[in-house]
Amino acid sequence: MPCALELTEVHLTGGEPTLHPAVATLTKIAVDAGFRVGMTSNGERGERVMGDCAAAALDRVNFSIFGTPASELADVQHPRYRNPVLAQRRIDALERSMAACETHGVKASANIVVPDYTHAPRVHRLLDEFSPNLTVRLLMSLDHGDSSITAIERILAERCAVAEAHYVTAGGSNSRTAYRLPDCRRILFKHIRPVRLPQTCAGCRFNNGTDCEEGFYGVRLYYDRTGTWQVGVCIQRMDLCLPLEEFLTSPVRAEIIGLRNAEYTRLRARPVG
Ligand code: SF4
Repeated sequence: MPCALELTEVHLTGGEPTLHPAVATLTKIAVDAGFRVGMTSNGERGERVMGDCAAAALDRVNFSIFGTPASELADVQHPRYRNPVLAQRRIDALERSMAACETHGVKASANIVVPDYTHAPRVHRLLDEFSPNLTVRLLMSLDHGDSSITAIERILAERCAVAEAHYVTAGGSNSRTAYRLPDCRRILFKHIRPVRLPQTCAGCRFNNGTDCEEGFYGVRLYYDRTGTWQVGVCIQRMDLCLPLEEFLTSPVRAEIIGLRNAEYTRLRARPVG
């Protein structure tokens, strides 16, 4: 499918990719096929699999950071983790996974979702705890919208962060602004652009200023309970998923490539500044 969409990168997400018994093998298959491979992980089994993933040339891991101490993690987690002892184990596993990345030469960054300004103390504490060499990405919460964006902007201002670059993914809603802190730490503020697929989104009931949370972010590949690979274009509209074989010959494939090419041309033509 990546070739069908002229992609250069595969990103492993989940569930939790490090729990997949063949995560290193899958990484190697994708790398051997010519793709850069990244992963988003909560670090659950990263310590055990990172050596093999690094050998398979995994490029980077974006670790999802919830919060410390354990009592705080227990508060915001699945009922299974409300027990602070289990939460502490999870935090320890995450720290070991991040250390394993360093040991094996895999790039690592920390993703912190900021729902609103009540999370500012947690974010500041995490920024103080992490090594300045670790890239931190502050993610807006789709559920919290403007209060999330305002909170991130306040936190960045409190750290005296200075914006130095803006990155836009052509043909997808992902965009990032890079900030530099006085201690030279790099922070990325990840936000969402209101990108739509011209035909697929035109008739969608969520296609308005408030109900479409993520816009068109890109395609996701799912393996369903019947053993069929499904291609999804929207997390809010799983009914739009197509079996892989059907997707490859559908107009949606051309629509995705066309949107990307048109946006790329438009963005390249835009004056910088
Ligand atoms: S919810 Fe999904 S399908 Fe609907 S407009 Fe948004 S991106 Fe398009």
